[in-house]
Amino acid sequence: MNKFEEAAQGAEPVDAQLRQGKSFVVAVDGPSGSGKSSVSKAVAKRLGLAFLDTGAMYRGLTWHCLNAGFDLNNAAMVEAAARTIKLEQSMEPESEFVRVNGVNVTTAIREPEISASVSTVATNLGARAELVRRQQAIIAEYNHRIVVEGRDITTVVAPGAEARLILTASEEARLRRRGLQLGGTQTAEQLAEQVLARDAKDSSVVDFQRAADGVYTVDSSELDFVQTVEAVIAVIRQAINADPPA
Ligand code: C5P
Repeated sequence: MNKFEEAAQGAEPVDAQLRQGKSFVVAVDGPSGSGKSSVSKAVAKRLGLAFLDTGAMYRGLTWHCLNAGFDLNNAAMVEAAARTIKLEQSMEPESEFVRVNGVNVTTAIREPEISASVSTVATNLGARAELVRRQQAIIAEYNHRIVVEGRDITTVVAPGAEARLILTASEEARLRRRGLQLGGTQTAEQLAEQVLARDAKDSSVVDFQRAADGVYTVDSSELDFVQTVEAVIAVIRQAINADPPA
């Protein structure tokens, strides 16, 4: 049994909102290594919602620019690329693929080289505006029944989401998790560069460390994967019940 199946065991998280096919957007932001992606996927699977990893879009755009030999500091070029590339990705929590102009980059976009460059692309405001526009179009395409994770989802992409939360974890927990994810191939310095320096640079354009008004916080430092999924589901229930839709 994989971790998603485990998380789905013994749960009946069905709210009227979900049963009645109403709008149900779950917005999740947080720093790298907080477990956002895997937890959001498990939550989407459990609630029967689509899943959008917005970081994969920034990574896909970065891969494209590097592959084409662009100078990432050439803002106009990167912005133009954001507008023209064809980005395809899985919206199913059970499967994962990302294609850029038809090329499968699912694995390539997770390489440290991309992690080290992605913030330069993500701090390009023109490129951001275009990716935000695409993300909002995807949310509409999925009838507003989707879990969306990233850095600016609770504040910019989907501020009207039915449930908004920040998933955090201590610096130590985040470094440890990212290290495990990368199979122990990175030195402590490389990990710190990829996790902490990236967060610092990303923070210059979006505040994903502090919860805005109406945004819940889940701290996963002391929780295992299944407990974190439970905590997120509990917060979603709270958000839905606290603000019953008309
Ligand atoms: O979540 P992940 O680590 O894959 O995100 C990769 C990068 O994409 C982040 O470091 C950030 O620069 C950018 N990003 C962003 N806004 C989002 C999602 C990701 O700026 N909503």
